[in-house]
Amino acid sequence: MTSDIIVKAVPCLQDNYAWLLHESHSGQTAVIDPGQAEPILAALHSQGWTLSHIINTHHHGDHVGGNLALLAATNAQLYASAYDLQHQRIPGSDSGRAHPLHDGQPLLLGTQPLTTIAVPGHTLGHIALYHAPQDTEPGLLFSGDTLFSLGCGRLFEGTAPQLWQSLKRLRALPANTLMYAGHEYTLKNSSFVRYLGLNSPELEEYLTKCQQKRSKNHPTLPNLMAIEQNLNPFLRADCPKVAAAVMNHRDVEPGLANQALSPQEIFGYLRRLRDNF
Ligand code: ZN
Ligand code: FE
Repeated sequence: MTSDIIVKAVPCLQDNYAWLLHESHSGQTAVIDPGQAEPILAALHSQGWTLSHIINTHHHGDHVGGNLALLAATNAQLYASAYDLQHQRIPGSDSGRAHPLHDGQPLLLGTQPLTTIAVPGHTLGHIALYHAPQDTEPGLLFSGDTLFSLGCGRLFEGTAPQLWQSLKRLRALPANTLMYAGHEYTLKNSSFVRYLGLNSPELEEYLTKCQQKRSKNHPTLPNLMAIEQNLNPFLRADCPKVAAAVMNHRDVEPGLANQALSPQEIFGYLRRLRDNF
């Protein structure tokens, strides 16, 4: 049986990926996070697909830059978080074709539901999209700038506890979920994991595969959620090994060195270490 949804990466800008999702029964096609219009239109043309949905995980320019030109060139409808639309920070929010997405809400691509998961932290309106597993097909997660392979988004608007909470929701998805993120950051993020001293044979094995893909200019994504659950320190702030690595690397405030920190505090230090890395 072929998959109900075909996913195709469209590289945009420096290191962004827009994702094209094609539902074969209805012929509907969605783009998630079009940072630019031209490469999307070219990919649609070469596949012979017609755009029906434009979906933004959040309002940053590298994820919405193609909205207006795509709205002009196609009849697609626009979907973004209710928060980002209310704040009018999605280009095309006033087009009459914009539809708000709320946490838990399913959005139909043909017959296939994509569920909205609110994941505030990188920005306050950030959402992820999830297609649940079907028969033998694994689930698909489109995580935007919330979860990267071996990393997570910076805290632009939310707090560390908020982002930790959001990442815990994504971590709870099935281990065979395929994770599609908004940027090609895998190898960059791996140097931070090594800096923390969290090397392992599993990490090396994963990185060898990623380096092979990058040497052919292929995306390292999608990645299996199981690998992120095991190797991504930002999903493991409640693991004693990660907590110990953070305690070894953070600027220890006098008297705090031996104090037990909560997972969300560990996560906050971890994010700060990555900001300064
Ligand atoms: Zn962003
Ligand atoms: Fe981004």
